[in-house]
Amino acid sequence: MNKMSDLKNGYSDEYLNGDANSSQISVMDDIGDAHVGTSLETPLKKDAFAVSDAEKIEVISRHFREIMDTLGMDLTDDSLAGTPRRVAKMFVNEVFSGINPANKPAVTLFENKYGYRNMLVEKGIPVQSTCEHHFQPIFGKAHVGYIAGDQVIGLSKINRIVEYYSKRPQVQERLTMQIADELKKVLKTDDVAVYIDAAHMCVQARGVEHHGCSTVTTSFSGKFLNENVRKEFMDILGKEK
Ligand SMILES: [Zn+2]
Repeated sequence: MNKMSDLKNGYSDEYLNGDANSSQISVMDDIGDAHVGTSLETPLKKDAFAVSDAEKIEVISRHFREIMDTLGMDLTDDSLAGTPRRVAKMFVNEVFSGINPANKPAVTLFENKYGYRNMLVEKGIPVQSTCEHHFQPIFGKAHVGYIAGDQVIGLSKINRIVEYYSKRPQVQERLTMQIADELKKVLKTDDVAVYIDAAHMCVQARGVEHHGCSTVTTSFSGKFLNENVRKEFMDILGKEK
């Protein structure tokens, strides 16, 4: 168990015992503002899929109406009346559809008939995700590289895998690692590199309000741990090493 999950479990226990105090709450606020994740797995309840998507849309729609009402919005206005349901459908069917493993893309592998053994890099895959600490958009690009073994993957499947893990409440570090892990699993190789450069609306539109900065996260494993291989990958991206 790593340090971060120890930290998380510490808080969970306090909350289970019902004696969380304000200093702990402020530490949890700090975790959110620092965009620190607690584990590689997306934290999900055991019964996350006990209710259907249709039921989830109903419940979220009701609660979102409550949020808007609390903010003082007049939900009888034609412009706002449909918003709670629109947001609920967007959450369940679109921006958070990657929570549900049923939506995981099926990946077919092809025999590496050409015997291509060099690096393959899929550049500029759009990343549209959501910060799990503020529920604000994260958007940027992912660049994925791997060195083919006996099997290769259909190129668009790499995009699908990036998309699937992006469509969850995320922290960028976990997103990067989840994509890398999945690719290693399906490609049956450790020779995988993932590089994500993304902007966080929660940094740009609130908090420090710093515009134009972006966050880079990387995952290199297998042959990519070799300095020359990594340099080749970075050169292909056109980035400084
Ligand atoms: Zn955030």
